[in-house]
Amino acid sequence: MSALGSLTVVGLGPGPDRWLTPEVADVLAGATDLVGYGPYLDRIPQSFHRRHGSDNRVELSRARLALDLAVSGRKVALVSGGDPGVFAMASALFEALESGDDPAWAEVPVRVCPGVSAMLAAAARVGAPLGHDFCVLSLSDNLKPWDVVLKRLRLAAEADFVIALYNPISKARPWQLGAALDTLRSMKDPATPVVLARAVGRHDEDITITTLAACDPATADMRTLVLIGSSQTRLLPRKGGDNLGDVWVYTPRSYYSAEGL
Ligand code: SAH
Repeated sequence: MSALGSLTVVGLGPGPDRWLTPEVADVLAGATDLVGYGPYLDRIPQSFHRRHGSDNRVELSRARLALDLAVSGRKVALVSGGDPGVFAMASALFEALESGDDPAWAEVPVRVCPGVSAMLAAAARVGAPLGHDFCVLSLSDNLKPWDVVLKRLRLAAEADFVIALYNPISKARPWQLGAALDTLRSMKDPATPVVLARAVGRHDEDITITTLAACDPATADMRTLVLIGSSQTRLLPRKGGDNLGDVWVYTPRSYYSAEGL
C-alpha cells in the first residue's frame, strides 16, 4: 500500500478570492485532489488537481471519498463554502471518522482550516449587527425536526439575541422562512431591523435592509443570509455612496449609555 496522504478541510469564504485565507490558498496549491460540492470546486482555478465534484446532499459520502483518497496516499482538500465548520463539511468528516467504517481512516492526518463565514461577510457589509450577543441557526429541517427550529427561534427571541439564519429557503423548503418570521413577529418589536444579504461578495450581491414587519420572505433565496436584530440593534445614517444604501445597521457593544461607561 502507498504511504498515507493527508486530509485538510477548508472553507473558501463566501465570495471573492480576497476572502479566502492565505492558509487555505496554500492548502489548495499543495493538494492533489479536491473533494466538494461542484459549484464550490468551480470557484477554484483549474490546475493539476483531480476534482471530485458531487451533489449538495451527499456530505457523508463525500467525506468517505476524501478519507479513502487520503488513505491511498493523496493529499486531499475537502472544500466547503464560507467556514468549513459552520453547517458544512468538517462535521460530516468527523461523523464518517466516528463511524469507523474503515479502520485505516483513523490513521489519516486531518486538519481543519477556518474560513470567513457568510454571516461575518454579511454583517460587515451592513455595519456591525453582530457586535453584541448573537446566535446562529440553520432553518433547514432536512437535518432536524421543524419543532426544534421553532423552539430555538422562540427561545432566541425571548433571550433577545441577534439571530443569523443560514439556509433560509430553497425550492424544496419554500415556507420555512415565512413561518420563522411569523413566530418572531409574534414575540418581537415589528420595527426590529432585518437584513437579507444575498450572494454576499458575488457579482449578483443584493442586500436589503428592512424591518421584521415588512420583511418579505420572497426576497430571500438559498444564497441569502438573514440577520434579525435584537432590541438594541439600530440604524445609523450612512454616507459614502458605495451603493449599499443609506443606513448602517449595528448593535452597540453595551446595554448602558456611553456616559455610563
Ligand atoms: N459553511 C458556510 C455555510 C453553508 S450553509 C459558511 O460558513 O458560510 C449555506 C448557507 O450559507 C446558504 O443557504 C446561505 O444562507 C449562506 N451563504 C453561503 N454563502 C453566502 C453568500 N455569499 N451570501 C449570503 N449567504 C451565503
